[in-house]
Amino acid sequence: MKEVLTPSHKLWPTFRKKLGDIITIYVDEKLHSRCKGDLALTTDILQSLGNIDVKETVILFKELGGNCDCGVLLNVAKSFNNK
Ligand SMILES: [Zn+2]
Repeated sequence: MKEVLTPSHKLWPTFRKKLGDIITIYVDEKLHSRCKGDLALTTDILQSLGNIDVKETVILFKELGGNCDCGVLLNVAKSFNNK
């Protein structure tokens, strides 16, 4: 059975680190966010984790303020813990 990746899921730290590692790149020695205002990077990582219900997880992330890749990093765990 596939699982929803909440911030209390055992794979959350893995997910968080992967997203944090790929969301920023250096261009001309300046930090750039690769977030395009959608959940493309998030979706890719969720799929790579296996056993995760990507569709349901994206719905949850949006409810928790993660409307884009950087929003997932900034808001999801915070909103989840304040619930
Ligand atoms: Zn963003």
